[in-house]
Amino acid sequence: MKNIIITVITLLALLIAVVILRTWMHTPADEEAVEPSQRTADVNRAAARLAEAIRFRTVSHQNEADFEAQAFEDFISWFSTTYADVIAAAPMERVGHYTLLLRWPGSDAGAQPVLLTAHYDVVPVIPGSESAWSHPPFDGVIADDIIWGRGALDDKGGVIAQMEAASALIAAGFTPRRDIYFSFGHDEEVGGGGAAAVAAKLAGEGVQLEWSLDEGSFLFEGMLPGLDKPFAAINVAEKGSVTLEIIASGTGGHSSMPPRDNAVNRLAEALLALREEPLPGGLSGLSAEMFDAASRHMAFTYRIPFANRWLFDGMLDDTLSATTFGNAMLRTTIAPTMLSGSVKTNVLPIQAVATVNFRVHPRDSVQDVVDHVTRVVGSEHVSVRLPFGGGREASKVSDANSAGFGIVSRAVREVFPGAAVAPGLMIAASDTRHYGKVADDAFRFTPMVVTQEDLTGFHGTNEKLSVETLGKGVLAYQRIIELAAGAQ
Ligand SMILES: [Zn+2]
Repeated sequence: MKNIIITVITLLALLIAVVILRTWMHTPADEEAVEPSQRTADVNRAAARLAEAIRFRTVSHQNEADFEAQAFEDFISWFSTTYADVIAAAPMERVGHYTLLLRWPGSDAGAQPVLLTAHYDVVPVIPGSESAWSHPPFDGVIADDIIWGRGALDDKGGVIAQMEAASALIAAGFTPRRDIYFSFGHDEEVGGGGAAAVAAKLAGEGVQLEWSLDEGSFLFEGMLPGLDKPFAAINVAEKGSVTLEIIASGTGGHSSMPPRDNAVNRLAEALLALREEPLPGGLSGLSAEMFDAASRHMAFTYRIPFANRWLFDGMLDDTLSATTFGNAMLRTTIAPTMLSGSVKTNVLPIQAVATVNFRVHPRDSVQDVVDHVTRVVGSEHVSVRLPFGGGREASKVSDANSAGFGIVSRAVREVFPGAAVAPGLMIAASDTRHYGKVADDAFRFTPMVVTQEDLTGFHGTNEKLSVETLGKGVLAYQRIIELAAGAQ
């Protein structure tokens, strides 16, 4: 008996020792040490220009008839004057009417080009919500070192930061070794026809980019528990999207003598079944890579499960899946959005329909989603249909071990010392669904620190960007351009 107890205690001690040792060793991979950037950007000039850019109402409306061409023309003429120095070095042309494409020619014609991109259209401000803004959304107010207005974050800040970076490099006498393209879309918020035209144009000219860098994620603060440094998830893929209708049928008639199973009850049961049986997911592939890299920067206790997945995988999966962010990273998500049933209060429906939007994880295809839903809810009375076309597949996953990823990661670590960098997955859509077609690798990341509170302004009220954040963005883009196209 005594021997058994000793054996159990020894094994337990050994297990704990292994867990602790593995956690202790679970630290950031040996990254090449970088010198923190000592530079400063001309932040006041950058901020003033972003404020000016915000004043042009380059709004993308859902209804094409509301498009105000003059605002776009005015923006383009302001842009051409303001960045005449950049355009002199990198001639600009208009593609797809209002999208701006600049090519900064490199000295080595054989080197593969790269693309930096952003968009200058913005989403509308919800009518009636203007008074909730601390400063009017299109006034371009700078107050207390913050630039206020629609587009500050999404994505005129990106346009200005990239142009200020190029302008500063030109002033310093920099000439690129390889071609650098800048593309500024005019309709990202409504499908990105401009970006598609740019991609088609580049393809037609036989241009294949080594990589492209578009908006996507930022450096987030307070996003992951246990991580007290800015977290830069450089997105290497974006989710797809498909919307399905689930249709339940039933016998119609008067509601005074209803059968037990009417169409609405059947639909409700189908939706519950789908909630109980989501698409399989879990910590594998890109999701695993992201949490592995991020967790290496976490506090010790938070690192334990990630360092010991052989022991804690099930628990980790459950814990992450219970959060909206974690769940969106781990699997295809399911969001019922619209419902319809009978046309009158006392008429039993012969059909009840739920519209359900799925954001497709790169491990699944649109067909996988349709098959899964059909298997879970399909029956004699319940069917599934694809009413809005075939949906959009998730993008391919770009290489997080490529030179391009290394350049963006290095620039981030120089300008934001101590930041945790990891490959990430974009859950929304970007213009890169088009640009990615002419790029070996496509990254989606804006080098600016953003808090949870800042994110509420994204497509929302009180969109803003701090002058300091914009300045850091300028420096980061400068380093990205230098590292990508500097003399070797
Ligand atoms: Zn955007």
